[in-house]
Amino acid sequence: PAGPAGSYDVVVVGGGPGGSTTAALVAMAGHRVLLLEKESFPRHQIGESLLPATIHGVCRFLGVTEELEKAGFMPKRGGTFRWGSNPEPWNFLFAYSPLMSGPTSTAYQVERMKFDKILLDNARRLGVEVRERCTAVATLSEGERITGLRWTDEDGRTHETAARYVVDASGSNSKLARTVGKRNYSDFFRNVALYGYYEGGKRLPGPDAGNILCCAWDDGWFWYIPLTDTLTSVGAVVNRSQVGTLSRDPEAAMAQFIEQAPMIKEFLQDAERVTEGPYGELRVRKDYSYAMERFWQPGMVLVGDAACFVDPVFSTGVHLATYGGLLAARSINSALDGELDEERAFGEFERRYRREYGVFYEFLLAFYDMQHNEESYFWQARKVSRAEATDLRAFVELVGGVSSGESALTDLETLKERFGGSSRELADAVTRTGPAQTESGERMGELFGTQVVTEVMQGMNEVQARASMGGATTLEKPLFEGGLVASSDGLGWAVPVTADAAA
Ligand code: FAD
Repeated sequence: PAGPAGSYDVVVVGGGPGGSTTAALVAMAGHRVLLLEKESFPRHQIGESLLPATIHGVCRFLGVTEELEKAGFMPKRGGTFRWGSNPEPWNFLFAYSPLMSGPTSTAYQVERMKFDKILLDNARRLGVEVRERCTAVATLSEGERITGLRWTDEDGRTHETAARYVVDASGSNSKLARTVGKRNYSDFFRNVALYGYYEGGKRLPGPDAGNILCCAWDDGWFWYIPLTDTLTSVGAVVNRSQVGTLSRDPEAAMAQFIEQAPMIKEFLQDAERVTEGPYGELRVRKDYSYAMERFWQPGMVLVGDAACFVDPVFSTGVHLATYGGLLAARSINSALDGELDEERAFGEFERRYRREYGVFYEFLLAFYDMQHNEESYFWQARKVSRAEATDLRAFVELVGGVSSGESALTDLETLKERFGGSSRELADAVTRTGPAQTESGERMGELFGTQVVTEVMQGMNEVQARASMGGATTLEKPLFEGGLVASSDGLGWAVPVTADAAA
């Protein structure tokens, strides 16, 4: 067919979780949406370990709960960590949080080829015009405003499509995002990942069989994600300086890392690396810890990896992408309906998104700080030391939204206070946790008692609660002074109603 004629309310670039979430939620509000995806689905992507907020929050809101259940993904109760000073692995189960209990305390490990296709097909069903094998080339603009997109179709023909909003959800290699601003890389998470897939790897016992296993060793850490009863995603995260060695001979590098990490070596003892099909290669990912200096400009908004990503250690990528998609869709819907001026609608999107990113950034920082190894260059370089405080502060300010005046997120001293003096205490609270105590959840209470974890959990809980109640009231409190709340259908923003006015 010839290129779609006329104009769209919204053009979304990228059919990953960020793009299909945004597109679906804008279409649900009755707007005309075109989504362009460069690849033909299913396509491979990393980011297989999910958090409960994605499954019980955004995915439920999108209406894919049953389909996810039917897909037979590996249920995940949390993470098992060989990390910190305790030589025994310990658990971090979602159920330990008082804010997430019962059926919403689980997530899935997913084959992204299947998960992303479910979300994209769902967007199609909800009325989004999805075009695969179509590549966005450049934005169109009039003055400061983005007014549409130039793209090529599967036959190489070029099209120009006008839209009131362009959503860039094209992932970490986005070429469009630079229109909005600069990308700021983290100095702290200077990591590179080498990963592949194995058949026949060992499983953790009993109900922990579906947990992600994270194992620190001298030069970095491993993820070990059970995708099915027999298939495992295995990745080594090491210092950025090793990228040359990894890329030259990935086979040798992987073999060497596995040799150095006893628990992973034991788990892979009887396993064989998959060498054919979409899981057949060893892949390298680098330069993935960053945030854009701005997340939107008039006519354009960034979602998912196009906007920001922290680090794989706590499985936050798909959560940030889908949560960012929800926030962006609300702002787009409100602006299209003329209910709010653009500045206010997108200001709310940017503040909430940056806050979520900032909270995870701090949490992951503390997580890295838990691993003590005086001899190791990798771990010594990842201490939250005085020497690094300046760099860290600069980055936390950038990502934490100092422009929005949220000093609590940007002040390193405040950050330390939140952990009760130093992040070492958080580390101790976790590393004192033996497996037996962990089962009872008592010790983990200490970790969950820290401010930052409470905030992370609260944020997720809000999304979940809203999804299970099918919306909320405008009596909900705004996150920021003068801020907005979700509209009653959850698809837009509303000015909060004060208790007095409601009475
Ligand atoms: P993507 O999933 O990358 O989707 C972007 C889409 O845009 C792609 O389908 C691409 O083909 C398309 N596209 C690109 N350019 C164009 C164009 N010009 N025109 C049209 N289409 C285009 N997250 C987790 O939640 N859990 C994990 O365990 C986890 N592990 C990770 C491990 C590593 C090493 C890394 C680097 C990341 C990990 N992540 C993890 C993060 C996760 O991969 C991403 O955050 C997530 O995939 C972001 O989703 P997205 O929709 O923004 O982008």
